[in-house]
Amino acid sequence: MGAAATSITTPGASIKSINPATGELLGEVPDQSAEEIHTAVARARAAQVDWGKLPIEARCRRVLRYAEVLMERVDEVIDLLSREGGKTRQEALGMEVIVVADLVRYFAKHAPKMLEPEPIPLHLMKHRASYLHFVPRGVIGIIAPWNFPFSIPIGETMMSLIAGNGVVLKPSEVTPLIAHKARELYLAADLPPDLFQVITGRGAAGAALIDGGINYCVFTGSVATGKKVAAACGERLIPCTLELGGKAPAVVCADADLDRAAQAITWGGFANSGQVCASVERVYAVDKIHDELVARIVGHARELRQGNAASDDVDVGAMAWDQQVALVEKLVNSAVANGAKVEVGGKRGPGPGQFFQPTVLTNCTQDMDVMRKEIFGPVLPIMRVSDEDEAVRLANDSHLGLLAYVFTKDREHGKRVAERIEAGTVMVNDVLATYACPETPWGGVKQSGIGRTHSSHGLRDLCDTRHVNHDRISLPREVWWYPYKPGTFKALLRGAKLLFGKRPWQR
Ligand code: NAD
Repeated sequence: MGAAATSITTPGASIKSINPATGELLGEVPDQSAEEIHTAVARARAAQVDWGKLPIEARCRRVLRYAEVLMERVDEVIDLLSREGGKTRQEALGMEVIVVADLVRYFAKHAPKMLEPEPIPLHLMKHRASYLHFVPRGVIGIIAPWNFPFSIPIGETMMSLIAGNGVVLKPSEVTPLIAHKARELYLAADLPPDLFQVITGRGAAGAALIDGGINYCVFTGSVATGKKVAAACGERLIPCTLELGGKAPAVVCADADLDRAAQAITWGGFANSGQVCASVERVYAVDKIHDELVARIVGHARELRQGNAASDDVDVGAMAWDQQVALVEKLVNSAVANGAKVEVGGKRGPGPGQFFQPTVLTNCTQDMDVMRKEIFGPVLPIMRVSDEDEAVRLANDSHLGLLAYVFTKDREHGKRVAERIEAGTVMVNDVLATYACPETPWGGVKQSGIGRTHSSHGLRDLCDTRHVNHDRISLPREVWWYPYKPGTFKALLRGAKLLFGKRPWQR
């Protein structure tokens, strides 16, 4: 696929898309005005009226076509993901394309059941009945980061459409072209053109989207921006989902399968150049296995091949955002100045691209920035701990709580340790992978965010949950209505004492 076919340059464009591995200019997109963005929302809203009225089965059938077009044009998508995002072709396929294709198929099959009206049995007012029904919200504003410029926003877009909404997507200014490519595929799938819009711009464009009349915002990005988004949504009383930063700990128990743990941690730390909100960002290895685990991780890290992801012989690609390289360098230098030991890497990779060498640090301590702040780069800091209790305590000593990992051969013990860790998801003996399970909820606790994407919870969040309460038998009146009479009061009081005055087994 030639560069020309995926490059776009629009008049008045001012945001450049750069290949992070080479510095090559891939295309330019406009920094759109608030007025243009508000118009896009209005168009999506108009298109949503008919779309929202379609039976959900019909919407699922239409959206399913997107997965087919995606697989027909998979090479184009992988090529652009690799060139604009710096990621390896295997990561583009496994962590972006397959995730979306599978998510579309999964929700196209299961969403009708998930959004069926749900009866609520009433325990006291048995002559009446209640049920919930799930109604499209209207227009969902999706604001996306650069690390997974396809799977994150397009997965959320497909779920929103299935739920009956229109979508306006603002991709990251670092990776705007892939969002345009995603819309190109959407049009090729013969879906309603105005229903899904892509607008481009920087932070101000995201702010304009929130101000443009959307009914719900799905934001994925940093904690700092997430707080601004939450405040802007709060000001307008728009509900939102916030998928924010992570600092995933890996707790390695004394009985862990060290072969598996070392491979998993190496992949979990360096996949996508460490630019995953769920990346292994700190390792707590109990004293008994620490040295053996470090030796294995260092061995794996030394074998990693870094470079331009256009070649299939690369394990670790470029970093998508130039400023992130500087942040990673600062965290590593500060750790080393405070006593950390560089076992592998430790420096920027060679130019012209944006690379940081896969880096393993030992002698790390909990007070170091590298153990406390999000790194979002290919760095694995490892700390020796005396036992699992210390590991769990330190794992929980963080303002973030997105993902966490536990390694042990004893599955039941692993589940018990997992339940003690404060995180949205804890995996036992694996890393990262649940993002590829559309049936499981994705989201964090503490400052890692609010709400969930994926799963029936994420799908229902894209709907207004409405409650209908109706009569099951015809009665002339309810006893608590006017007029209030002493006889009625006495009867109600007698009934209340009977019901609430004693525990059921004392009656
Ligand atoms: P970022 O917060 O800088 O930007 C995210 C998006 O917000 C961009 O599109 C940006 O233009 C937009 N934006 C900036 N200011 C805004 C404002 N005031 N109002 C509205 N929108 C605004 O994040 P990033 O650097 O693109 O992404 C990296 C971060 O995302 C990391 O912290 C990472 O952990 C997080 N992330 C989280 C998840 C998750 O699922 N929890 C997934 C991927 C990335």
